[in-house]
Amino acid sequence: MTFDRLIIATGNQGKFREFTQIIRALSGEDFAREIVFAPEVASMIVEETGRTYRENSMLKACAWAEESGCPCLADDSGLEVNALGGAPGLYSARVVKGAGVDYAAWLLSEMAGVQDRSARFTASLALCVPDEFTLITEGYCYGTISDSPRGSNGFGYDPVFIPDGRTLTFAELDSRVKNSISHRSNAFRKLYAHLMR
Ligand code: IMP
Repeated sequence: MTFDRLIIATGNQGKFREFTQIIRALSGEDFAREIVFAPEVASMIVEETGRTYRENSMLKACAWAEESGCPCLADDSGLEVNALGGAPGLYSARVVKGAGVDYAAWLLSEMAGVQDRSARFTASLALCVPDEFTLITEGYCYGTISDSPRGSNGFGYDPVFIPDGRTLTFAELDSRVKNSISHRSNAFRKLYAHLMR
């Protein structure tokens, strides 16, 4: 199945770029000929009222598909830190408020003196194709929280997350490397494999 036009349901240009890189790297033009950032739909705010990543990704994908009439791909993601009982998790984007929030600084202050630094990123991806189906997959990336912020690539918690098997943080790694091992790319791999079956 190849979509002529796929909208990425986000108003965030950084996330759009990351998705485009993941989709092109893993599926070339086979999944979608055109990948669209739709600022006109992006003005629509979808309340993330779900109790799980799955529910929130589905809410976003379906609302955008309803509005645009096109296939839409949405994600909901978060970071679960074992020593914090799985926090910030579903609330990863909302745990720090205000303009120019520094997620990495907040997490490091919560983790001061904490020995167990293990953590996991989760991403739920929902693809809603109007009048046909909605498909949801979940991907993970396991790692540890660093002692100080390092690197300037990426966003959110990237400067303090070291994926397993690496010594650099997500923010120090080349974006192509991050996008080949990230929770988001692992979720997309599953979604694409399912559609190609
Ligand atoms: P949402 O999925 O847009 O609701 O946001 C989830 C939040 O989790 C983001 O604002 C980031 O703080 C964090 N997050 C999710 N994925 C990543 C990632 O790949 N790198 C860094 N932070 C992330």
